[in-house]
Amino acid sequence: MKGIRTFSKGGIHPAGKKALTSHKEIKNAMIPSVLVVPMQQHLGKPAKCLVEPGTEVREGMLIGEADGFISANVHSPIPGTVKTIKDIYLPNGMISKAVEIEFKGEFDRSGKVQEKHEWKNLSVKELISLISEFGLVGLGGATFPAHVKFGVPPGKVVETLVINGVECEPYLTADHRLMIERTADIIEGLRILNKMINPGKIAIGIEVNKPDAIELLSKAAEACELNLEVVPLKVKYPQGDEKQLLQAVTGREVPSGALPLEIGAVVSNIGTVFSVYEAVVYRKPLMERVVTVSGDCIVNPANLKARVGTPISSLIHECGGFKKEPAKIVMGGPMMGFSIFDMDTPVSKGTSGILVLSAKEVAAARQTTCLECGRCVSACPMGLNPTRLFKWIDHLEYGKSVEEGLLDCKECGSCGYSCPAHIPLVQGMKLGKNMYRKQKVS
Ligand code: SF4
Ligand code: SF4
Repeated sequence: MKGIRTFSKGGIHPAGKKALTSHKEIKNAMIPSVLVVPMQQHLGKPAKCLVEPGTEVREGMLIGEADGFISANVHSPIPGTVKTIKDIYLPNGMISKAVEIEFKGEFDRSGKVQEKHEWKNLSVKELISLISEFGLVGLGGATFPAHVKFGVPPGKVVETLVINGVECEPYLTADHRLMIERTADIIEGLRILNKMINPGKIAIGIEVNKPDAIELLSKAAEACELNLEVVPLKVKYPQGDEKQLLQAVTGREVPSGALPLEIGAVVSNIGTVFSVYEAVVYRKPLMERVVTVSGDCIVNPANLKARVGTPISSLIHECGGFKKEPAKIVMGGPMMGFSIFDMDTPVSKGTSGILVLSAKEVAAARQTTCLECGRCVSACPMGLNPTRLFKWIDHLEYGKSVEEGLLDCKECGSCGYSCPAHIPLVQGMKLGKNMYRKQKVS
């Protein structure tokens, strides 16, 4: 394959482990009898809950209303009755109000032929309004409300719309399966985004460990009228990060603290493109998503299209349960995901994977003192000196670590992964940022 690109600084090569599910077709997950739907599934303010115990809800009904501009609507993924409204812990440790719905009655959408809507005559404002109405958020992990990202401010010109088909975290294959199973729908989603954003060109970055996706999308790109290029990328973590992806695809760097728009780019995940297609063409709210259920403890790893609010225990059970004692359950990828301690934790709009890993996979070796080997420095994609930052944080000198670039840290975990002394570098970075912010407001 010619012209394979990547980002320049740092990066690591963890074992991919994608073969467990990369050949597994997306299947609809079973719908459990009770779902718990959080009001906080996006970056920004939580949605305002519109229902109360006893409210009868229909599939796709609005149950949480965006509270302000940086917020997103939430819809009921099933028909049923609201049992309770309760506070739950999210995987990141935050508390969110959540609506517990008992499944009852008939589906309005599922199993029924849906009308296709013509969208080419809609204005950009009308398209953005559909994206907002149906609660779309970025599905790559950041969950930024999509109507904000795609609503390009007047006077700003987008040279390149960069689509993230990288999926660089080990184990995850949900985006890969979408690219090969729903290629035509993704191209239609790109047509809609092309009208909304009006970029000079569109580039889809895909790592070369997905040759079938590269081939299918390249053929589709050649056959369609869009100015669309598929860019094969070397396999390297964290290439799915916005800044690393932009550098790999466009060759341009986003300055520290700036947004991609400042270099004329908008970045969107491939799953988000598919949800744009479903929202605009089928007027479908974002109430389900593809989740990779994998890891060395799962009997039948799979890619399941799960309703938001489905407890992870239900998906694990559907995949045959555990074949050996798990040491860790992770929501998301193993590098940046969150450890889960409650099997009732619900799938949300941002859940790309559920990984069940044995002690062998997560072997926590004993920490020793820094060997000053510099491996963490070579691994950091942001050009930081993680060992030095860690030392400042360890000495409670948060201001000094910020002066040396702490706030540019993406928490990608490449430094800790490379460290032969097993120093918890990324945990240190997270702590340092929190402490610095606390000191600033006090
Ligand atoms: S976690 Fe932060 S410091 Fe460590 S490699 Fe990633 S960006 Fe660099
Ligand atoms: S990789 Fe670990 S041991 Fe090596 S310099 Fe960095 S912190 Fe020290």
